[in-house]
Amino acid sequence: MAALEPKAYSAPDKPLRFAVIGAGMAGILCGIKLREAGFDHFTIYEKADRVGGTWRENTYPGIACDVPAHLYSYSFAPNPEWSHRFAPGDEIQAYFETITRDYGLGRYIRFGDAVTRLRYAGGKWNLETAKGHRDTVDIVLAATGVLHHPRMPEIEGLDTFAGPCFHSARWDHGVSLEGRRVGIVGTGSSAVQIVSAIVKRVRRLVLFQRTAQWILPQENPPYSEAEKEEFRRNPRRIYELREQLAQGFVEHFSNVVVDADSPQLRLLEAMCLANLENNVNDPELREKLRPRYRAGCKRLVVSPDFYQAIQSPNAELVTEAIARVEPRGVRTKDGRLHELDVLVLATGFHVDRFLRPIEVIGRGEKLLDDVWNPRPYAYLSVAIPDFPNLFLLNGPNGPVGNFSLIDVAELQLAYILQLVELIRAGVCREITATHEATARFEKDRAEAAKKTVWVTGCQSWYLDDRGLPMAWPWTFDRFRKVMARPTFEDYALAL
Ligand code: NAP
Repeated sequence: MAALEPKAYSAPDKPLRFAVIGAGMAGILCGIKLREAGFDHFTIYEKADRVGGTWRENTYPGIACDVPAHLYSYSFAPNPEWSHRFAPGDEIQAYFETITRDYGLGRYIRFGDAVTRLRYAGGKWNLETAKGHRDTVDIVLAATGVLHHPRMPEIEGLDTFAGPCFHSARWDHGVSLEGRRVGIVGTGSSAVQIVSAIVKRVRRLVLFQRTAQWILPQENPPYSEAEKEEFRRNPRRIYELREQLAQGFVEHFSNVVVDADSPQLRLLEAMCLANLENNVNDPELREKLRPRYRAGCKRLVVSPDFYQAIQSPNAELVTEAIARVEPRGVRTKDGRLHELDVLVLATGFHVDRFLRPIEVIGRGEKLLDDVWNPRPYAYLSVAIPDFPNLFLLNGPNGPVGNFSLIDVAELQLAYILQLVELIRAGVCREITATHEATARFEKDRAEAAKKTVWVTGCQSWYLDDRGLPMAWPWTFDRFRKVMARPTFEDYALAL
């Protein structure tokens, strides 16, 4: 620890300047916590014209968060007004807009301009935007999200479709679905929510399923006015509920999916199986909907009513592979043309982008694109060797999909701010994760990943090019513990 004593170098004579990239959940959090820590020199760069990230971009019918609302909120900003146990997307978007206003963050955000380049030189990060704006900062906080870049399917003839065709994360609200024939490609969380939300509005719904999903039936009851009033009068009640929800989520999900042999996972599988057996009447349809891999291997889909929706008389589940898209609809490999008016692509995201396509040039002119080829990595998900003073929130290999990403970001930011404190205190000017610590983390991670349910025989967005899960493969408790205090020896501190 002796190396951490302020010695030759004294505290910076100018206040530290930060660039935060992205004004989604994690970027807003950065703004709040930077100010709280006494840092006032920062800009939050946001390429869009509103805050909200995922919740700004995903506006498809039926969108809701499958983490309970009182858990999917900042720990320091409880919201007594959540309407349901699982909040709809527009409420979550409104929550982030309100928080941004309440915490006075508007004046720190530069909207409508994308960061295009970051270059480390002379101990500073030089930033450029698409509109030619330039900034020089001491520290970069990348809060650019994970499920952010829509993945378009490679299907022949997709651009020949005569009607509207859009990705679930680019919903075209100008297109009416009433009385129309709508096709949906994909059966992930997004598709399942869309199916349940629109089946009653459309004339015909065709769901193109490549792989069946396990569906965990979770009811979504509204909070009564009396409950909300109790939350308003007694915010302590929200904290107690949050604690309960967190404990339940960790015990029954987060800690379970990282241990393929755990009894709780068997319980989860039994619940999904019972849902299928009890709620799908037609044996042929039931077999089509029966996954051939273990529950939790893909990110578990949660829905109280998907099976009901897909059994509607106007709905059809198509399991024959798609051959191509034609102007009038989708032709499957059996030669059948499924005529459609609207085609929705609920085909997921490129999950390996993180702060790219920004061109990031680190120490020694190292390009992040090269360093992250063939796959992204970061020490403990927050720091990359050769990229000093650049920290990631919800970066590669974090507990994405396992827990409330808000809690994840809060823990990560508290950890990062402990590192930043070393710079403010004059212990060092530059902090970089060491190659040794990063290699050790990567090795341990790959080993632990073998025990998770994600490697038990399915394809999913969790898996990287080697088939190794890119998500945190340990318990959430371990994540919390590791994030509590940095192991400073795993960083190179330079003057
Ligand atoms: P996803 O889980 O990656 O699902 C994509 C779907 O598209 C899969 O069913 C996939 O089939 C299918 N697909 C992809 N390319 C295809 C092709 N060429 N032909 C046919 N089918 C194709 O994406 P997502 O549903 O958007 O969800 C992503 C993640 O976002 C979720 O896992 C969750 O973490 C998060 N999310 C959460 C919520 C929520 O809170 N409720 C809602 C939405 C999203 P295969 O399975 O065969 O690959």
